[in-house]
Amino acid sequence: MYAAIEAARHGAGRVLLLDRSLIGRGGATVMAQMTVAASVGPGDTPGFHLADTLAAGRGLCDEALSALLCEEGRDCILEMDAWKVGWARAGNGFAQVQAPGHDRPRCVYVDFLNTGPAVSRTLRAQVQRVGDAIRRVGELAVTDLVVQGGEVTGAVALDVARGGVVTIAAGATIIATGGLTRLYARNSASANMSGDGYALALRAGARLMDMEFVQFFPIGHLAPRLVGMDPIMWDPFRYKLGGRLLNAAGEEFTERWGGGVEAGGYTVTRDLATYAITKEVEAGRGSPHGGAWLSFSHLPAATLRAAFGPVIDKLAANGIDLTRDAVEVSPIAHYHMGGVRVDTRMRTGVPRLLAAGEAVGGANGANRLSGNAITEAFAFGRVAGREAARIAAAGAPRGFDAGSATALLSSSGPARNTAALVARLQAVMARDVGPFRTASGLARAASVLAELRAELGEAPPGAPGAAHDLARLDWLDLR
Ligand SMILES: Cc1cc2nc3c(=O)[nH]c(=O)nc-3n(C[C@H](O)[C@H](O)[C@H](O)COP(=O)(O)OP(=O)(O)OC[C@H]3O[C@@H](n4cnc5c(N)ncnc54)[C@H](O)[C@@H]3O)c2cc1C
Repeated sequence: MYAAIEAARHGAGRVLLLDRSLIGRGGATVMAQMTVAASVGPGDTPGFHLADTLAAGRGLCDEALSALLCEEGRDCILEMDAWKVGWARAGNGFAQVQAPGHDRPRCVYVDFLNTGPAVSRTLRAQVQRVGDAIRRVGELAVTDLVVQGGEVTGAVALDVARGGVVTIAAGATIIATGGLTRLYARNSASANMSGDGYALALRAGARLMDMEFVQFFPIGHLAPRLVGMDPIMWDPFRYKLGGRLLNAAGEEFTERWGGGVEAGGYTVTRDLATYAITKEVEAGRGSPHGGAWLSFSHLPAATLRAAFGPVIDKLAANGIDLTRDAVEVSPIAHYHMGGVRVDTRMRTGVPRLLAAGEAVGGANGANRLSGNAITEAFAFGRVAGREAARIAAAGAPRGFDAGSATALLSSSGPARNTAALVARLQAVMARDVGPFRTASGLARAASVLAELRAELGEAPPGAPGAAHDLARLDWLDLR
């Protein structure tokens, strides 16, 4: 959405903003609950933010992209403020919390649990304000880019709602399809986060980087079963109340694995907390379902209620009393640091093809700081939109022939239980391509993937033209 707005602001008169779901409602942005990092506090600078980003990335960041995230991202946070996103205030400035890995309070938020919906709503409103220059079309799943004479000249999509095939000619194309965590059995993803953009980019000749850098959110809810609650809901609790991460013996353990002492605070970065929990489980000191205990029982009921009243009621409806009961948590696939390799103008190296947001690799190295992802989506979207407008204005592509790209969507193969294939993929990814990987585990995963590939066959099940054919859509995702 930021890319579309910026492209229109830079003179692109015919921007098409499309999504396989509803615009602004299908990806991670609308799901974000928490905070957005930017150096907008007194005394803070993009340079300080950059130093923390590079340290958290464990020396593996593309530093030019990290710097762009911190600098351009700061401007975007201020622009979003002008667009009335409603960042919470404290005194004369923004209210900011300190997330693990940041050297100071640097994360803005909207009403604590409302950041993602507010961000998405603000951008949707801004897109609307731009007017006719941006055309929005939902429920179009892009399945291939059209490559002609070495340049990307548009895309081919499945019209999910009506079943038809849609071809789109474009002077410039931006991949902003988010991440890939739906590939894992335990994830915080929506159904649209299957890594489509990486596959589109790769098939069009672009390069991917750091694809092994999946971020596991360490304290995803594990047990007891909760109905109607988000698996990453314990993060806000940790920000506000600290809480204690404990092993089966009731001991705090992050220090043992290099994470430092938390002492009831919230300081350990995601990679180290994931490492510590996984190692503790491996050593036989995990919680009953294979994770760690998260306890707030040292806090008085009044403190819990003052911080999270309505959530405390929801927990009570699920049979949990936090003054008495600890919950079990364990790492859950959450974000992808790797992705499409781009330069600082979001160009992929394939003419007329750009990428933005979580789909891009490199800015966060091997581990992302809390709050950097929304900032990255804003900043890289804005840069990509500007560049796309420039490319489109510089001249039209030589041609547009979507013939071969549409062939697959017009074909029909035998019926298949694609939901079962998705479940098998997610299980093998969780077992063998999780936070810890070994040569034998990866070899086993590779052989399961080869089996799945063979079972998939060469054509999607179902008839071309059928509306809402989810088995067909699953097949295209699995491809
Ligand atoms: C539960 C959750 C909570 C989070 N909380 C925070 C937080 O507090 N702070 C923070 O900084 N980050 C947070 N993150 C990460 C952050 O939200 C994402 O990294 C960021 O929003 C990604 O933005 P994006 O625009 O790149 O992608 P998305 O917002 O995921 O949007 C991608 C869009 O592309 C569409 N799409 C995908 N494939 C196709 C296709 N083939 N054809 C057409 N459309 C397609 C999807 O439907 C989707 O709408 C959170 C993530 C999750 C999952």
